[in-house]
Amino acid sequence: MNGSGSWHAEEAWLGRRAEYVLIDVENGRITRVTEGAKAPGAATKLRGWTIPGLANVHSHAFQHALRGATESGGGDFWEWREQMYRVAEGWTAASYLEHCRAVFREMLQAGITAVGEFHYLHALGNELGEAVALAATQEGIRLTLIDACYLQGGVDGRSLEGAQRSFSDGDVDAWVARMDDFTVGQDVRVGAAIHSVRAVDAPSMRKVAAWARARKAPLHIHLAEQPAEVDECIAVNGCTPTQLLEREGILGPDLTAVHTIHVNEQDIALLGEHKVSIGACTTSERDLGDRVGPLDRLAAAGSPICVGSDSNAVIDMLEEARGLELDQRRASGRRVHHQPGDLFRAATISGMRALGWEAGELKVGMLADFITIDPPEITTKKHLDLGYLMFSRSARNVNNVVVGGETVVST
Ligand SMILES: [Zn+2]
Repeated sequence: MNGSGSWHAEEAWLGRRAEYVLIDVENGRITRVTEGAKAPGAATKLRGWTIPGLANVHSHAFQHALRGATESGGGDFWEWREQMYRVAEGWTAASYLEHCRAVFREMLQAGITAVGEFHYLHALGNELGEAVALAATQEGIRLTLIDACYLQGGVDGRSLEGAQRSFSDGDVDAWVARMDDFTVGQDVRVGAAIHSVRAVDAPSMRKVAAWARARKAPLHIHLAEQPAEVDECIAVNGCTPTQLLEREGILGPDLTAVHTIHVNEQDIALLGEHKVSIGACTTSERDLGDRVGPLDRLAAAGSPICVGSDSNAVIDMLEEARGLELDQRRASGRRVHHQPGDLFRAATISGMRALGWEAGELKVGMLADFITIDPPEITTKKHLDLGYLMFSRSARNVNNVVVGGETVVST
């Protein structure tokens, strides 16, 4: 990811539409952006709309194995979770490497240049996490390996059952020791996660957050995806999951709260005030029968919105981003909760920040991650327009992907 070279884009998004844009890259970073460069010389030509690489803030690569397998039989989120546990076990470092390589290749082909892998498969210590990192390095995708602390079976501290036991380190100090022992390549960032308020007790949460903050590493959590989590937290702690995080000092601009569906007005105000990023996972939440969160109100309160493919039932960040808007339309009976530019930022710079990467904009100094999308096939030439991009293009329209100044997909 330390490539050098020059690319010449027919049209590119530089915060506005620009034509004939020459992008010069040295050692993986953008060193010059020149508009109106009519004579590109030896630069690689990019035909279509060039935009920053897409960020996938929340993935569980292993759950890709459920695609097509849980679409019949009925049930709710908790019944789906039992099926999910069955594919969480039995991996070896070799089989997981091969699996993750295929998932990451699909992500690159969809224009995703950075992924946050929320990792809790700890049956082999760090072996499977290191397989994830190696898979990313081999495929050429930027990875934030977000290793999750997972210690208990519910907010009341009940014991782990079945596959959950393999997710646990036993206690938070063992989690810290394992985290300090990770061996990953230089293009991989290690981040930390509190799996959820269900799976981590309050003192352990504080230690996970302290570990992340001492290293300026991204911190993530699954938050309020299902009403049962909120009800249990209120019963045990007398407050909502968000309020518990506030009480324990976990909320902050370095935190990404994934899902954040069942939140009340006070929760929304707290998350916004602390600038907590919200990771919406539209296609996965649809698949699981999750409700629709108040993403417009969270954004208005001050929380950046970003997007993730989560269970990887679908891998398409443009669909994730427009889906968060379209699902709110159906839930509310009202249109246009977010502008196309807001959806674009969710899929690019806001996601990159949540993963700890200086990427997501085509400007000097940023990591040289950019993708090119086929313009629509209509008789008159359609210029790059964020409304058209976000509401009509999909992963299938990506024709070229550059990560760190190296071409990884070219069709
Ligand atoms: Zn998740």
